Amino acid sequence: MSHGLLIGRSPDCIPLILVTEADFAAWLQGQDDFLRRWLGAAGFKPKPGGFKLIPDPNGALQCVVSCIESAEDLWALGELPAALPEGDYYLDVSCAAKSLERLTLGWALGAYRFSRYKEPKRAMARLALDAACDGNRILALAEAVSAVRDLINTPAEDMMPEHLAEATAALGQTFGASMEQIVGDELLARHYPVIHAVGRASSHPPRLLDLRWGDPNHPKITLLGKGICFDTGGLDLKPSSAMRLMKKDMGGAATALGLARLIMSARLPVRLRVLVAAADNAVAGNAFRPGDVLRSRQGITIEVHNTDAEGRLVLCDALAEAAGEQPEALFDFATLTGAARVALGTDIPALFCNDDTLAAGLLAASEREQDPFWRLPLHEAYRDLLDSKIADIANASESSYAGAITAALFLKEFVPDSIPWAHFDLMAWNLKARPGRPEGGEAMAMRAVFAWLEQRYGGS
Ligand SMILES: [Zn+2]
Repeated sequence: MSHGLLIGRSPDCIPLILVTEADFAAWLQGQDDFLRRWLGAAGFKPKPGGFKLIPDPNGALQCVVSCIESAEDLWALGELPAALPEGDYYLDVSCAAKSLERLTLGWALGAYRFSRYKEPKRAMARLALDAACDGNRILALAEAVSAVRDLINTPAEDMMPEHLAEATAALGQTFGASMEQIVGDELLARHYPVIHAVGRASSHPPRLLDLRWGDPNHPKITLLGKGICFDTGGLDLKPSSAMRLMKKDMGGAATALGLARLIMSARLPVRLRVLVAAADNAVAGNAFRPGDVLRSRQGITIEVHNTDAEGRLVLCDALAEAAGEQPEALFDFATLTGAARVALGTDIPALFCNDDTLAAGLLAASEREQDPFWRLPLHEAYRDLLDSKIADIANASESSYAGAITAALFLKEFVPDSIPWAHFDLMAWNLKARPGRPEGGEAMAMRAVFAWLEQRYGGS
């Protein structure tokens, strides 16, 4: 795995000088004639994202000058691992340790490439971790984001419920967590009927993965992930354009697993539980149908209005299970609705939360970590959009409005008000490459939730 970082600086490392656009003129004044002439001759304009290679008199690379908008910008160096010549660099900039950490993390996130099926054309440039940084935290974040992206980018054929189970088991093994899984018809016997119904038409049986870690006496934190390994839409089949990216419909599960990795690697004093509802929403003679009524784990009857609203279905049995042990906080991550993307675009997950204090803390962490999401309301008056004539609730509304809110209200039916709960409806995918964010799978909201947990429970 490439995170483009080097632990410890070697004498061969080349200085990467960072200058803000605002400071550039003053900085240039203080440089020697050679550097000033070279930058002038090369026509270097101090625009953020621009950089120049500076040779020494023998023609070897002496240093790199790179212009950034601000040392606070997480993504300022995101393009450089792939843009600079292969080799090792170190940051030559005067800024606070926190800013150095942020810049270094942005570099590491930009060094990611998905290489399972195709050799990368070149190696990434590497940045030496500065001794002033918390190197372990940067590496843990880079590894977690990379693991999430790999899981999402892997095609459905190689990332079915059994593969998600293997990934979860491997993660558990790394950190000494225990894992249980309930597979196929066992879901019926153990009373997870809705997860079974959604996944039963696939030759890859559905599963509930259950990872536990930490001291049972510590505060209970439970993470839930939507793990729809491929979403055809079921019998209410998606059109081809909407189906193309549906290998990413397990992005919520990947995010929950990435967050679990961060929590365990930081050894946060919590008792962690991760539930992944994994299913392949496929089409076959035994597929569940529009109009069917499913009886959930909790006993609530659900009329299936559309088989493409399957994420909330698999989550409802998992939420009921999670709520049963009254965690101190419950987080779920799901690529749940197109409506959330219509409201906020693909970069900003929607947060729904039944606890204002928790929501405020999460939003503050989102701002600090430059990991954006935005809160939408659990507007109870819209609950009647989910009324069914023959069951307790319908899985989707017939209205074309407020689809992200009605999906969240559906989930809310399965979470007691006494449990602080945050639901993230996210894209888990970068439609286009930007610095630090290659096109493809993406870990959204994960760094912010981790920062909130770190602040709440303290690292060690
Ligand atoms: Zn769907």
